[in-house]
Amino acid sequence: MLTNDELAKWDRESFFHPSTHLGQFARGEAAQRIVTGGEGVFITDRDGNRLLDGFAGLYCVNVGYGRPEIAQAIADQAKELAYYHAYAGHGSEANITLAKMVMDRAPDHMARVYFGLGGSDANETNIKLVWYYNNILGRPEKKKIISRWRGYHGSGLMTGSLTGLELFHKKFDLPLAQVIHTDAPYYYHRPDLAMSEADFVAHCVARLEDLIATEGADTIAAFIGEPVLGTGGIVPPPEGYWPAIQKVLDRHEILLIADEVVTGFGRLGSMFGSDHYGMKPDLITSAKGLTSAYAPLSASIVGQRMWDVLMQGTDEYGVLGHGWTYSAHPIGAAAGIANLKLIDDLGLVQNAAEVGAHLLAGMREAVGGHAHVGEVRGEGMLCAVELVADRDRRRFFEASETMGAKVVAAMLKRGVIARAMPQGDIIGLAPPLCLSREEADQIVTVTRDAIVEVLGPGSA
Ligand code: PLP
Repeated sequence: MLTNDELAKWDRESFFHPSTHLGQFARGEAAQRIVTGGEGVFITDRDGNRLLDGFAGLYCVNVGYGRPEIAQAIADQAKELAYYHAYAGHGSEANITLAKMVMDRAPDHMARVYFGLGGSDANETNIKLVWYYNNILGRPEKKKIISRWRGYHGSGLMTGSLTGLELFHKKFDLPLAQVIHTDAPYYYHRPDLAMSEADFVAHCVARLEDLIATEGADTIAAFIGEPVLGTGGIVPPPEGYWPAIQKVLDRHEILLIADEVVTGFGRLGSMFGSDHYGMKPDLITSAKGLTSAYAPLSASIVGQRMWDVLMQGTDEYGVLGHGWTYSAHPIGAAAGIANLKLIDDLGLVQNAAEVGAHLLAGMREAVGGHAHVGEVRGEGMLCAVELVADRDRRRFFEASETMGAKVVAAMLKRGVIARAMPQGDIIGLAPPLCLSREEADQIVTVTRDAIVEVLGPGSA
């Protein structure tokens, strides 16, 4: 067996890691962690650490690590039929069964599911379908996509453009011209502290209306949004936001894409965020929770009115020219079936609601009064603590102070993985949905101790 040092050297010399500071990593100046295993909500690494994974990998290992049922399903599928493509009407028992299971769980007006590999490609699929739809309806000018600042929709060319975070645009010549951004529904960051939540929703609606008026509704095809902003800061929408946005979109015949890559399959304590907030999307994007990341698989779920036009399109123009070699991969599908069964059998959607509420309440109690905590927020099994320099004046820290990252590092020392969200000083938590109350309490204690270590006792 290779020594830790040998493996770390190969890592630095061979492996191009995603979302990593490449220079620091190659020079050995950045953190390296070689993960060896996982069980429940814990992972282990080659340095002998056992860490409570408060972010479920990248909010994806929803059923927790080391589930033998999913491992067995993958092994059985690999032996029986590792692969056959799904082009031209081919299928396997696994991908057909999973399609039925997804449609049984999706909101009522959804009609079909297309399987890809990850969240980015599922969003690419959905955007292509939106363009195809408007071409079939004879509206070739209606193509722009509205996304929100702080939204996260992936890091491809189109999806990186939809993402509203500077890091994903800078020096990549993004966003592409067809993508326009509107305001994030981020009440804590409202432009005027005197605004009520209702005022702020009205402000977001007015900003959207202005954008539509400036660009022309006949040039705008769709609006994409996560039910709860994820990577942009874990921000649940203000009360009434989605119904108000939906009204505007309906009036201008703008389709709604609900990006449920994080929220789909239980994370908010509901099967889908769309149901949770009364959204009526034409398309749903999902991935992570579909297989709990035991195998790569995504789902683009299309609503009835989209499906009717897609069928019309292929009647007029022939086969839909869209698909990948690995679309609907049988091994991913087998993992998905076993995963969705586990979610049902273990009552994990309910657990996300209950233990998530316990985590949020505990966090508010433990750190909500700290002089450098601006807001503690969350929904279901998502929770965020936003740090500020001055809580009364809502003054943020300078980015160079990296306060969020410092607190996350202090948490790691205490055995809990949290995520320093990429923009702002936000400590993000998105544990597996099987988290217990005791594990939630451990996260709370560690968060409090880490904040006190970095920012002092800070009694308000
Ligand atoms: N959409 C959302 C809301 C996400 O959070 C992510 C990833 O975190 C994506 C899309 C992209 O998914 P992937 O990284 O699987 O391409």
